[in-house]
Amino acid sequence: MGVTGMDLDRYRSQHFPHHKFIGQPGKDPEIEVVEKFNERWAGPYRFTYTIKDLLGLHADETNFLIKELATPKSYITPIVIFTLSVIIAPIGAVAFILSPFVGAITAHRLRAWTEHDHYRYPGYTYTMTKPSLWRRYFYLPHDQWKHADHHGGLKMEKPFSFP
Ligand SMILES: [Zn+2]
Ligand SMILES: [Zn+2]
Repeated sequence: MGVTGMDLDRYRSQHFPHHKFIGQPGKDPEIEVVEKFNERWAGPYRFTYTIKDLLGLHADETNFLIKELATPKSYITPIVIFTLSVIIAPIGAVAFILSPFVGAITAHRLRAWTEHDHYRYPGYTYTMTKPSLWRRYFYLPHDQWKHADHHGGLKMEKPFSFP
């Protein structure tokens, strides 16, 4: 979600159940998202999803994720950054407001596709070989491609290959 100042307590309470109940409907919070936005997650990855993400046509999903994760505390940092941007560089303020609905959702979906496919392989985590530099730069920074390691010790793994 970019620079959000996200409330980590809230994030933890949402994210830990994903680890504990991976792929289980009603328990893993990721399942709620893929069920709600089913047509974007139910099949194999499609390039059209990325185009629509980039055009802001999936802003409803960003809205949903913000509602799930935001607390009053998490608005402080974005409001400070936005205010400073308005003063220093107004175009930056516009980009900052738009980014969650355009770039961030695009990177989020591209990354999430490499982690799990909750429909086809419920309960599994993908393993990956080191992706190319541009993928690591744009949507898999900080070793995020090592999601199977992140789930640590989980035995249900599947190799991922890019479409
Ligand atoms: Zn995961
Ligand atoms: Zn995690």
